[in-house]
Amino acid sequence: MVVVLGGGVGGLSAAYYLIKNGKQNVVLSEASNYLGGWVKSIKNEKTGVLFEVGPRTIRPSGIQGINTLALIEDLNLNDKVKAIKSSHPAAKNRFIYIDKKLYALPTSIKGILRKTPPFSKALIFNFIKEIFTPAKICEDDSIYNFVERRFGKELADYIVSAMICGICAGDSKEISVKFLFSTFFEAEQKYGSVLKGMYKTGFFRNKSTEQKIESTNLSNKAKQERWSVWMLDGGLQTLPDALTSHVKEKGAEVMLNSPCTHLKFGNNEVSCKVGNKELHTDHVISSLPANTLAPLLREQHRILADELASINFVTVGVVNLVFNGNVLKLDGFGFLVPPSQELPILGVIFDSCCYSLNNDKTTLTVMMGGKWFNKYFGSNPKEEFLLTTAISQVKGILDINQKPEAHNVVILRDCIPQYVIGHYKRIDRIFNYIKDNRLPLSLSGSSYHGVGLNDVILSSRKAVNNFLKITSS
Ligand SMILES: Cc1cc2nc3c(=O)[nH]c(=O)nc-3n(C[C@H](O)[C@H](O)[C@H](O)COP(=O)(O)OP(=O)(O)OC[C@H]3O[C@@H](n4cnc5c(N)ncnc54)[C@H](O)[C@@H]3O)c2cc1C
Repeated sequence: MVVVLGGGVGGLSAAYYLIKNGKQNVVLSEASNYLGGWVKSIKNEKTGVLFEVGPRTIRPSGIQGINTLALIEDLNLNDKVKAIKSSHPAAKNRFIYIDKKLYALPTSIKGILRKTPPFSKALIFNFIKEIFTPAKICEDDSIYNFVERRFGKELADYIVSAMICGICAGDSKEISVKFLFSTFFEAEQKYGSVLKGMYKTGFFRNKSTEQKIESTNLSNKAKQERWSVWMLDGGLQTLPDALTSHVKEKGAEVMLNSPCTHLKFGNNEVSCKVGNKELHTDHVISSLPANTLAPLLREQHRILADELASINFVTVGVVNLVFNGNVLKLDGFGFLVPPSQELPILGVIFDSCCYSLNNDKTTLTVMMGGKWFNKYFGSNPKEEFLLTTAISQVKGILDINQKPEAHNVVILRDCIPQYVIGHYKRIDRIFNYIKDNRLPLSLSGSSYHGVGLNDVILSSRKAVNNFLKITSS
């Protein structure tokens, strides 16, 4: 028997890969009565509009993207995929909110060659200066420091800080440069300059690392048609729903309302307290958030528990709003707000532009809080407070004076891990501890090697492959 902990996309995909590789007797334990974790799509009864509570778009590129599309194909979900091609306004137009104004981010070479507000000069000068800026040799650094040092304060303040809010709701002054820019950081460390390093390593000539994983019809189509991101008809929840049906059909036992509360490692066996049962298994794959796994094994493995517990998570408030008619004056994916603007929102997604719905409704999602949740909302705010804040921000920034026809408010507690400076060293120590102590435990999920759905699914595939390699040798 193999026990998988957690019924988010990480746990469900671990169960899927176990079964795909011929493993029988797979048991999945989920604490709540819902499978999918943070992935949740709600159809608003009043308006018929779909609200995404958590993730909504997935990137098709890179080995992670290709791997997810292979999963989609295997689950027969091809017909449900809705691609946003790179020519679509939602792919081309992304905005940032600076000093009470919305600015389109430069997306073309032209945009880099000429001065485009809010930047004080053409960005090309920042790139030229980068070549002559001395390197700072260090093991790790914050992504903010790195970009400020190499490309200037404006790029760090306006673009990178906003991007980090959009990707992990975090503070770019704390997040490791390796989270997004490990290749660029390595180039600085080795060649003294990002651009010089990229030139010398052939980065500009040979961009593709995508061949390391098998491509499929769907990933080839994504490449040919130049998809920027994709979504699923009926919402992203279609994915965990399909994974659940698949693994159940193939014989996995899925236990809802069954939190794992204790793990005890013995000789070639683990006993897991799951709900009111004691399961004895050869191996555990944990897709729990690292800080949730920590207390389960603290009794026997304090050092490991301390490392897991020190990965911090932030809380995000999500407010979905729907307005009657087309009330947006801009077409695009949405806008992000850098923390320097001191606003309680991280950004707003223009869902109705992405979904290309008819023009009789405008749907927006306001993301709030993250690293600054307590600063703006306190530790236990009422949902009403988030709703009124979201409506007033949308009114002020997008000039929408109408009352929303419908809304949905959720507070996603501790939902996104923060890969702060030193994160990757910590992850090495965690994985080495498990290996050195030969624990029958594998880790997957968003706490370790990437916070997006693609990363999570690939982490489960790798966890299963490593486990099968060890057991077959
Ligand atoms: C607001 C938001 C927007 C996002 N947008 C995007 C996006 O657009 N694109 C993208 O790619 N990614 C996005 N992400 C990231 C993506 O949602 C996550 O990477 C992914 O959902 C994490 O999956 P997981 O299985 O690792 O963890 P989770 O979803 O956290 O699943 C863990 C599961 O474990 C269960 N559990 C907890 N404790 C126990 C226990 N003791 N025993 C058993 N079960 C337990 C939980 O109930 C949960 O079901 C977003 C995330 C958030 C929060």
